[in-house]
Amino acid sequence: MEGTYLEVNLRKITENSARIREICDRHGMQVLAVTKGFAAIPEIVRAISDGGIDRFADSRLMNIKALREHGFANEMTLLRIPMISLAAQTVNYADLSLNSEYAVMKALSEAAAAAGKLHRVILMVELGDLREGMLPLEAIRTCRKAAELPGIRIAGVGTNMGCYGGILPTRKNLSVLRLVADAIRQETGLEIPIVSGGGTSSLKLVYDGTMPPGINQLRIGEGLLLGTDTTRGDVIPWLKQDAFTLRAEIVEIKNKPSKPIGESGRDAFGNIPVFEDEGIIRRAIVAVGKQDVQPSEIIPLDPGIRVLGASSDHTILNISNSENHYRVGDRISFRLSYAAMLTLCTSGYISKKMLRA
Ligand SMILES: *Cc1c(COP(=O)(O)O)cnc(C)c1O
Repeated sequence: MEGTYLEVNLRKITENSARIREICDRHGMQVLAVTKGFAAIPEIVRAISDGGIDRFADSRLMNIKALREHGFANEMTLLRIPMISLAAQTVNYADLSLNSEYAVMKALSEAAAAAGKLHRVILMVELGDLREGMLPLEAIRTCRKAAELPGIRIAGVGTNMGCYGGILPTRKNLSVLRLVADAIRQETGLEIPIVSGGGTSSLKLVYDGTMPPGINQLRIGEGLLLGTDTTRGDVIPWLKQDAFTLRAEIVEIKNKPSKPIGESGRDAFGNIPVFEDEGIIRRAIVAVGKQDVQPSEIIPLDPGIRVLGASSDHTILNISNSENHYRVGDRISFRLSYAAMLTLCTSGYISKKMLRA
């Protein structure tokens, strides 16, 4: 089925992958391509791999499992700290995982030993963003204990920034990660080959040449896919921003008032909506709704269009100021935020069209 669809330009993703790979290579950084933003759709994974990044990471074990079933034998890292109840599946599908709990590492150790595997763990260190991670002293202590566990190997340390607390990675806070890695090496004699310094928001430090020495891995999603860095509110000028486009089909066009008529209650989601009275406007409804994407997360390419709002299955647009003469059946194109890309890719109701040109 087609109708409203998400268009993915694979060539642009390959180009972004090649640019990121080139810049990170030049600075001695390994790159993991983060696939959770597009539900690990295999064609997109292949496009990234064509650009030269061949290590993948996802927060959903199900996505990693699906890629394995598609025949991808690449190194894969589970990004979300593992659920202890899924320790066996984690070591079965992922080569590495990010960890912050000794109990989970013990469970991974038992599962890996039972399966005759060696699972590599990255210890997450809390540096201020306040999502996952151990405080530095706890990380050193836990490393010493976890080093004794069979079936797992401590492959490195990592941190996460700009995800929950909106804290930006800097030369200063990433230097602390390097210090923690050094302290662990001294205290335990472990090699700690990987020092994983964050996601897209850390890419700027590589590009600027301000990344502290000793940080040697990044896990990149948003920059690779959308060419943006939301935490900094930036466009990344050396990457493409137009790999993903939503093309939503118009199902109604009418001239109607801008302010609803009648006694006000709540909308379909229980909120009390507020409207400005701009008189009669030309309105279009496109066949996409909150079940697929939040209306605030899509940006019309036509500068004369404004998104007014949405219910589950309909998104309402003000097209009064557009210079185009839209008709029912035409499609309106939108750029996407990371959240919009994520929910549209996940939605089983939205067709995906892969462009190879
Ligand atoms: C999602 C995620 C990333 C990728 O972040 P981007 O900002 O999309 O580059 C990196 N690390 C972890 C742990 C993540 O969950």
